[in-house]
Amino acid sequence: MEKVIVASSNEGKLREIGQILAPLGFEVVPQSEYGVNDAEEPHFTFLENALEKARHASRMTGLPALADDSGICVAALSGEPGVHSARYAGEPRSDERNNLKLIERLENCEDRSAHYYCVIVYLRHAMDPEPIVAEGRWEGEILRSPRGTGGFGYDPLFLDPALGKTGAELDPAIKNKVSHRARALDELLRKLKCP
Ligand code: IMP
Repeated sequence: MEKVIVASSNEGKLREIGQILAPLGFEVVPQSEYGVNDAEEPHFTFLENALEKARHASRMTGLPALADDSGICVAALSGEPGVHSARYAGEPRSDERNNLKLIERLENCEDRSAHYYCVIVYLRHAMDPEPIVAEGRWEGEILRSPRGTGGFGYDPLFLDPALGKTGAELDPAIKNKVSHRARALDELLRKLKCP
């Protein structure tokens, strides 16, 4: 098995990535096992932040590394909250205050379209000039009030029009098939198999 450092401490993500990469001969190891601290995420794009995190993890461990970055982008807000999704309403981070802020910002907006976005970057080594980049999008719209109790983040406001449910109303197994993260992981798998 080839070790790959994952720049995340989210157990759900680590499990999901581990299951997907194991058949390709990769052993997924959280960066915390090597004492690597979280990298800064100072950039305006998800891609730059994911690259920064993967490069930091690879540089600190001398091993291949993988990092993701994700969030929600609202068309009428020029892509906001974007890379600021986790802390849209400031510190301390709160899903409830983030959702309230989004409802307020869109109060007089007819265009409710939005998408979740996820990018995953894989670096064979810290100076890898050809990172593998995989993206996933999940298209939907923002409701005027929350629906459902599952999921996290913006899920209660994010309606998948084709399924007629919000992210917080969807069975987790279904969400894990249609989500931005699932789609990015699918693409990563395809690219790792056949770069
Ligand atoms: P991270 O990339 O996992 O740190 O996610 C950044 C932020 O984007 C989260 O804190 C959420 O606010 C939002 N986000 C990303 N993915 C999802 C999702 O699947 N559901 C709800 N919110 C999400």
